[in-house]
Amino acid sequence: MQHRLIWFRDDLRVNDNAALSAALDCQCDVAISAVFLSADSDWKDFHYGRNRLYYTEQLLRNLSEQLAALGIVLEVVRLDSYQAQVTWVAGYCESRSVTDLFLNQEYQWNERIRDHQIVERLPDVTVHTYVDRVLMQPGTVLTGDNRYYSVFSPFKRRWLSIYQEHATGVFDFAGHSRESIKPSAWDPICDQPDSDLSLFPTTESDARALLDEFVTQRLTNYEANRNNPSVLGTSRLSGALARGLLSPRQCVQAAEVTLNRPITEFPSHAFSWINELIWRDFYQHLLVGFPDLSKNKAFRPETERLRWRNNPLDIEAWKNGRTGIPIVDAGMRELATTGWMHNRVRMIVAQFLTKNLLCDWRIGEAHFMKYLVDSDLGSNNGGWQWSASTGTDAAPYFRVFNPVSQGETHDPDAEYVTRFIPELASVPIKKRHSPWSATLPDRYPAPIVDLKSSRQRAIDAFKELKS
Ligand SMILES: Cc1cc2nc3c(=O)[nH]c(=O)nc-3n(C[C@H](O)[C@H](O)[C@H](O)COP(=O)(O)OP(=O)(O)OC[C@H]3O[C@@H](n4cnc5c(N)ncnc54)[C@H](O)[C@@H]3O)c2cc1C
Repeated sequence: MQHRLIWFRDDLRVNDNAALSAALDCQCDVAISAVFLSADSDWKDFHYGRNRLYYTEQLLRNLSEQLAALGIVLEVVRLDSYQAQVTWVAGYCESRSVTDLFLNQEYQWNERIRDHQIVERLPDVTVHTYVDRVLMQPGTVLTGDNRYYSVFSPFKRRWLSIYQEHATGVFDFAGHSRESIKPSAWDPICDQPDSDLSLFPTTESDARALLDEFVTQRLTNYEANRNNPSVLGTSRLSGALARGLLSPRQCVQAAEVTLNRPITEFPSHAFSWINELIWRDFYQHLLVGFPDLSKNKAFRPETERLRWRNNPLDIEAWKNGRTGIPIVDAGMRELATTGWMHNRVRMIVAQFLTKNLLCDWRIGEAHFMKYLVDSDLGSNNGGWQWSASTGTDAAPYFRVFNPVSQGETHDPDAEYVTRFIPELASVPIKKRHSPWSATLPDRYPAPIVDLKSSRQRAIDAFKELKS
């Protein structure tokens, strides 16, 4: 009899799960088991934090119940490293006579090496791998001479021109009649988050409801509202997408059904949301095309010579939301209290750290990894290197965001900053993005840096690289 093992990773759902639906697609008598493996110390090296791990734990509990209803046991095993995962899977397959291993592809360097090793270690097991994390498999969207794109716009044009021929649609959840069993038990991979994670859906049906609510009620205004952090203008699906509670295919399908047309015919206000899903694909492509990105290296090697200041007091003030620049502090407090931060504000705080404070982007990248529930190497590294002007298609080094005007433009009524910095409530609304121009409230610090001279200092540091 065949024995099929499904190895879950950041794909913690039963609906539209490419590997799961392939494993279930069999009329024959087959044993099916499922596993999720941690890699505790390797994950620590990559700064996986308690928010991400606690959220994963919650999704695993729900997945385990859903699988149990299908008669499948999910084993959750605590391991130390990716190497230990290879050994464990090899041992499991040998001792349980596994004939087929089903898994969805991951694109970070260590994960790819691990999956390669698994195939080598198990010559007698058929390893089936699937595209699940992205809309288009890395390696599909290439330049005319078969290289990976490093600039987003041509990547997107190519992506759109071939999407229809590659789109798989959502995978049916094959109706599977097995007797249900009791969900398994395990030692939690994390029992306490750092933040209040109530923002994030933890069941597939809640994630689906959030997606449906977004595409039917908020997609039309996405373009108009997406940059304003005080309103609920974006989908807030990033945690669900990052941990695989939802798939990007489900997102596209839901939007297409609502608008009753393919994404290539979307009006621009709705297409801008799809554009973000293409950015997401772009960053996964980059991980495969440029493996150094997974190894803590800058995309532009010359920027490794940059003389970062890395002042410990500045870094602490930034992390704690005590820089005296309201939009930066609000963003950092939003991150600490909710495990999420609005995209516009992520860009602002990242530019502030890397330009005004001239701190190495890796410090910010690690801090985000530690707190974000949606932490993802591709998108996080991409966002940080974009902001620091060290990456692909990055912001030009001389275009430094001014956090005060960014705040005034995108949070015009100062609602967002007041929500996260209640001390500012006594300052007139018009001055809340630059409270030092009024009387500073008692408990709020003066700016730790002069915005004008620190901007020039960053530009000079980048210019120095050319000489
Ligand atoms: C410095 C920095 C770090 C970031 N780190 C991460 C990260 O670790 N994980 C992560 O998922 N996103 C990251 N982003 C991208 C973006 O900020 C979040 O995906 C977005 O804020 C999520 O909110 P949402 O779900 O409401 O997005 P929506 O605007 O509704 O977008 C829909 C989905 O598209 C994807 N997406 C949106 N914007 C981007 C983008 N700029 N790049 C890549 N994918 C995008 C997300 O999966 C998101 O859920 C980062 C951005 C910056 C500037």
